[in-house]
Amino acid sequence: MKKIVPSAAPGLRFVRYEAEICAAIDQVLRSGHYILGPETEAFEAEFAKSMRTTHCIGCSSGTDAIALALAACGIGDGDEVLIPALTAPATAVGVLQSGACPRLVDVDPFTRGLDPETAASVVTPKTKAIVVVHLHGTPSEIHKLLAMAQRYNLLLIEDCAHAHGAMVGDRSVGTFGHAAVYSFFPTKNLGCPGDGGCVVTTDSDVARRTRDLRNFGTGAGKLPHRVGWNARPSELQFAILRVLLGHLKQGNRERCSFAAAYDEFLDDFKAPTGLLLPPRSEGSVFHQYAVECDERDALKYRLCEHGIDTGIHYDRALNQHPQIAGFLANSQDERFPVAEGLASRMLSLPIQPELRIYEDLIKTALARSMSFGAHRGAAQA
Ligand SMILES: *Cc1c(COP(=O)(O)O)cnc(C)c1O
Repeated sequence: MKKIVPSAAPGLRFVRYEAEICAAIDQVLRSGHYILGPETEAFEAEFAKSMRTTHCIGCSSGTDAIALALAACGIGDGDEVLIPALTAPATAVGVLQSGACPRLVDVDPFTRGLDPETAASVVTPKTKAIVVVHLHGTPSEIHKLLAMAQRYNLLLIEDCAHAHGAMVGDRSVGTFGHAAVYSFFPTKNLGCPGDGGCVVTTDSDVARRTRDLRNFGTGAGKLPHRVGWNARPSELQFAILRVLLGHLKQGNRERCSFAAAYDEFLDDFKAPTGLLLPPRSEGSVFHQYAVECDERDALKYRLCEHGIDTGIHYDRALNQHPQIAGFLANSQDERFPVAEGLASRMLSLPIQPELRIYEDLIKTALARSMSFGAHRGAAQA
């Protein structure tokens, strides 16, 4: 069946700001500076300022940012790092690239992020850090997680790959932990047409070491026990990110408004179908709008038949991931009921602002697609 509406379409965002982006690209091409130049420096300053933090260090991807941040904090071989069981494989891969070993922790069914009490219960003498993921742009319970990290003397790193611009009270996510990482993968709330990422921190030693580690690790912040990476950012991508950073707040407002429209429309379907709507916490930036339902795969198939593509973030908990499971600190038979349940029930509807032109098509398709299960008889009558 042909798809009319994609689940995400980063190209539409680049087209929306095409004139500004092309001017930025043109300037970089003519500048003669392509690596670690003025655009990267300017973005770093602007991004740090936008979230009211001190240091931002651009790098090649969000995954590399996780590895750099952990290494710059002195974490690596022989250390264990707690991560949520429900996140992108990138979170685990970033930890592994640092040399440390990830230990999965089950998530909270409401925020879908790390559960502070469960995390506390699996700390071992090897545990050195905890990576909090603000899944789908919903802030995790950061105050409780910070208190837990302090109690066990762990460093807290925020994986903000879904949460550019998300707030907890009047403070930006990414300013709570010892360091935070962002990804600028094309589909993220702030995404470029390529790979990119950054580390932010208020610790100037961590910042200096991160800068060194992204550029081979042979310079000023050199760590005695390890070499660095080539994890440098691209001037072209960072010039484009400067343009898009200027539109981030607007884009996030549009995502929240799109989410509110879904909430209102889907309210009627909750009782008859058992559909659950995503958490509606203040400060969320709706990187995804993921509903939960019993017959997720059937709903996905039906929406597709009606021309609407949807995403699944993620289709399995990381312990169920064949390429990751063997590298974890957890035993292979350990279960993560909340994360595994969410992975089998969640479905991400199109939420990118540039796809709102299809709102009516999506709603019609949803109404038709949800007439199965308890509601089937009534809907067909
Ligand atoms: C996208 C993502 C990353 C990092 O992604 P890169 O593709 O390496 O930039 C890390 N964590 C989460 C949760 C992500 O979604």
